[in-house]
Amino acid sequence: NLGAEEPVPKETKGKFKKSNQRDYKAVAQNLKQQRQDLPIFSARNAIIREVRKHNSLIIVGETGSGKTTQIPQYLLESGFTIYGQTAIAITQPRRVAATSIAKRVSEEVGTPLGARVGYTIRFEDCSSDKTQLKFCTDGLLLREILSDPLLRRYSVVILDEAHERTLRTDILLGMLKGIQKERARIAQLNRDSAAQNGQSFDGWHAHKGGEKLHRDHRSSGSHVVFGESPDPEQKESTVFTVIDDAHGDVTGIQDLKVIVMSATLDAERFSEYFGGAPILYVAGRQFPVTTYYTTTPQSDYLDAAHLTALQIHTETPSNSGDVLVFLSGQEDIENVERLLRESTASFPPEVPHLLPCPIFAALPQSQQSRVFDPAPEFSRKIILATNIAETSLTIPGIRHVIDSGVHKVRGFDPRVGESLLVEPISQSSARQRAGRAGREAPGYCYRLYTEADFAQLPEDSVPEIKRCQLSMVVLQLKAAGVHDIMAFDFMDRPSKKALKHALLELYALEALDDKGELTKLGRWMSEFPLEPSYSKVVYASQKAHCTREAIDIVSLLSVDSLFFIPADKREESNAAQMTFRSADGDHLTYLNLLRAYVKVNGDKEWCQEHFVNRRNMRHVLDVRQQLTRLCTRLGMDTERSCNTDLDTVLKCFLSGFFHNCALLQPDGSYRSLNGSQAVHIHPGSSIFGKKIPAIFYDQLVFTNKLHARAVSAADPLWIAQAAPKLYGRLLSSTVNYPTN
Ligand code: ADP
Ligand code: MG
Repeated sequence: NLGAEEPVPKETKGKFKKSNQRDYKAVAQNLKQQRQDLPIFSARNAIIREVRKHNSLIIVGETGSGKTTQIPQYLLESGFTIYGQTAIAITQPRRVAATSIAKRVSEEVGTPLGARVGYTIRFEDCSSDKTQLKFCTDGLLLREILSDPLLRRYSVVILDEAHERTLRTDILLGMLKGIQKERARIAQLNRDSAAQNGQSFDGWHAHKGGEKLHRDHRSSGSHVVFGESPDPEQKESTVFTVIDDAHGDVTGIQDLKVIVMSATLDAERFSEYFGGAPILYVAGRQFPVTTYYTTTPQSDYLDAAHLTALQIHTETPSNSGDVLVFLSGQEDIENVERLLRESTASFPPEVPHLLPCPIFAALPQSQQSRVFDPAPEFSRKIILATNIAETSLTIPGIRHVIDSGVHKVRGFDPRVGESLLVEPISQSSARQRAGRAGREAPGYCYRLYTEADFAQLPEDSVPEIKRCQLSMVVLQLKAAGVHDIMAFDFMDRPSKKALKHALLELYALEALDDKGELTKLGRWMSEFPLEPSYSKVVYASQKAHCTREAIDIVSLLSVDSLFFIPADKREESNAAQMTFRSADGDHLTYLNLLRAYVKVNGDKEWCQEHFVNRRNMRHVLDVRQQLTRLCTRLGMDTERSCNTDLDTVLKCFLSGFFHNCALLQPDGSYRSLNGSQAVHIHPGSSIFGKKIPAIFYDQLVFTNKLHARAVSAADPLWIAQAAPKLYGRLLSSTVNYPTN
């Protein structure tokens, strides 16, 4: 019976006190039946058996089948971790998933959150040294490797949501593989030496009464490592091996088990990567989902989502299931929530209540868990979520899905970093989203885009490591403590040449020192979700007191075009752009535009008059707001402005973009400083046609020739100052600078 997912009885929620063990057990008892009704339950023994047999395992199962909540518990119940000694880490790409799943699992286990089951995310640790199931973000586990290079605290690491192939997941995969090898080697040494010392060793030795035994061993200086219990319900581990002390700090090290979990079927890559690790497929349950497309493209998906939700609510009975709306992020969610509240305010009393339930990372925990509470009688939940609800979280009771077709690109976007860009999803994401409607009964999915648009979507999303600039990848690896980048075991290996280039770039940016080690600046940059060049600019802006301008310009560079240039109004458009023109080039021209735009509050007519691309400008403001928030969180003064001393701003940009410089040649052309390529200033640039001795640019685009985009004037001296190691000598030598 699929309706068996009885929600947690409301009266037991959040009421119990820490001391009241009984209530915890009662909640767990109530949830026991639900646990056993999950599809994965029938695979329980097979899973335990396979984990015992193999050090690496791939588990594939449909979303909602119970992978994330159940598998860690199965391992806990079978003694794969020892209370107070070892733990199982389960990584999630998203914070919200880590915290809310930990909460659920602690209820199922029947202990307070933070005790046996806990979570750790950046800046928030809800775990103790007794925690046996620790849910954490992948980034957090990477940090732990820095202080615990062999992850000795963990007997098992479960890499969840691996199909997302985030940059951190990929880095973690490589690190775990290395750690696994090293631990296997040490464990073998330990076993050999134990055998030599005449201790019998033939696998695991079983003893009952494990808790007592392991305390005894600890006090006598021997070491206890994880083992297994023949009784699946036995919570404590009962099987131990005793290992010689001779290896000093390596005693007690045992094999690390790595389990890679994925919601999509292409698990062979993971299996190959882990030397042919077995793949376990867990069947899910899926009812048919009827999919609808819009007949015409929607210009405003927020409004379309709002109207569709209202339509479902008013045209189907409220007991026909809740609605799940996929949106791109917090702003979207808050907007749709507001729209829904406005519309429902005027509902006549006979219409059932509509409860918008947002879920996003910044929402307080108590409100996040509301999405899991059942809707009261005569009402219906409209859950407003990001792609967190795509595969990470399964919310019971959903029968209708509204798919906006967009998401925010997580991780490091090639141009402007983390969580900043709204982009179309892939077909495989769209299918996952639709699938959420058919978990408990046949459902409906409303796609807010046309069928033709769906066909245009990419089949799958590209792994992040392939999307982002390699210098970013290398910086992240260095921050994770990988010293030999060339030897790193990438699942998708970049070329050696490209890696070397990235290393050099980071060295020039002073993120790495002479020995190739991360500098303090490099560490700072690795925490900042922008490409290294941009984060260097923001960093430099602190000292130069122009963080406001730096953030503004970086945001402005995040879109392709700030102006409209209609073919029949080229002249007018150019003339309008002149209003903002700075003799120093595009960076400051853009800044002028932004200042003017903000002054008129983005007025529509003003934008039309000045040929300003209003949509892109709104995007710029969005990026600007996010960057400002981020910098504030990092303790920077984002309002610090250099006002009119704009040379300072340009110097800051050069500190990140000295590799994008070109010098004027005697024949009037430009050649790049680093590769002596011919570089052409884009005709749309505010300094097109001028003869400026040195320029720097945001990027090169190849059309029919190499065009520099977003170009500004640079004093050659500034370039030398920005990268003395590279260009100090070059610029003091005999280059001849023609003048205007
Ligand atoms: P998978 O990882 O395979 O996608 P999960 O282990 O996340 O599956 O979910 C298994 C089941 O647990 C789902 O049916 C889901 O509805 C239920 N569940 C998970 N978290 C909660 C929660 N906080 N409240 C109620 N049910 C939950
Ligand atoms: Mg899961």
